[in-house]
Amino acid sequence: MVYELSGEYLSYNECSHELTLMKKQNSWLREVDSQALIQSLRNLETAYKRFFKRISDFPRFKSKYNPVQSYKTLNINNSVRIENAFLRLPKVGRVRFRTKQRICGTITSVTIRRKASGKYYASILCKQVPQVIFKINDLVCGIDMGISNFITINTGEIIRFPQQNHINKLNNKIKRQKRRLSRKKPHSNNYNKLKKKLANTYEKIHNIIKYHFYKIAQRLVEKYQVICLETLNIKGMIKNKHLSRAIQEKAWHMFQKILEQKATEHGRQVIYIDMWYASSKTCNKCGYKKEDLKLKDRNWACSQCHITHHRDINAAKNIQKEGKKILLLQKNE
Ligand SMILES: [Zn+2]
Repeated sequence: MVYELSGEYLSYNECSHELTLMKKQNSWLREVDSQALIQSLRNLETAYKRFFKRISDFPRFKSKYNPVQSYKTLNINNSVRIENAFLRLPKVGRVRFRTKQRICGTITSVTIRRKASGKYYASILCKQVPQVIFKINDLVCGIDMGISNFITINTGEIIRFPQQNHINKLNNKIKRQKRRLSRKKPHSNNYNKLKKKLANTYEKIHNIIKYHFYKIAQRLVEKYQVICLETLNIKGMIKNKHLSRAIQEKAWHMFQKILEQKATEHGRQVIYIDMWYASSKTCNKCGYKKEDLKLKDRNWACSQCHITHHRDINAAKNIQKEGKKILLLQKNE
């Protein structure tokens, strides 16, 4: 192949020139959003660059059989805008859409994505002047993330995993749908229909969790200036009755990412504590370490200062302490 000998590839400019010629010959290329085509060429160029830098494999053609499809368009002179319950897109026109989030600022670009369930999602990128900046305060909180209690704050506040019942029901539904799917002939009409439904249930769970995580993260950054967490530490192997470990781990990752994003948006700080720090075993009053603390012990008494600890609250208090130490070091640097 040419690229192997010369290391050359079609650049964006060459492709763009080619596209103009092709548009003159093929009227169907003019039927679609011109920005969508341009963005595809840009993606292609990035893919080539990544290939030559040995970051990725050689770009492959997109398959129309892939259930997930997407395109990106830019907002040029208000070509993309929101009109009540509709999203206006170039060439497509008005599309009914639903969101729980308010869209602030000016829209830069929109990526339309069809997911495996056959539903369409719009990711809207906005440029925004920072609006609500919460008052700077000196509140530092420590958070223990666990399985039985999703989030425990050093103040003693406990936040459970959101919508557990609802998610249980959906999980059971997934099990049923999987069973039914296994009895269908692969790639038959019924099989495909059911597969779409299954993907839809997965997406539902994802959306519920994400929505509630945003709410929890928002509440935390509203209140605290600095939020201290442990680096992801899958504590013990206690299994949650309702959530598989894989989902739980994914959920933790998702929450931390959302929290970090919210924190940057609002000028807050997230501090991570070393995962090997024994936050559960250490008494937050006197520092005694209870080495024989078991996973099932939800409460324990310190044999040195005789205080009874709630396992997760004690851990959260220790995480807060460690976080403050790190903060002090950062300030002295
Ligand atoms: Zn103690």
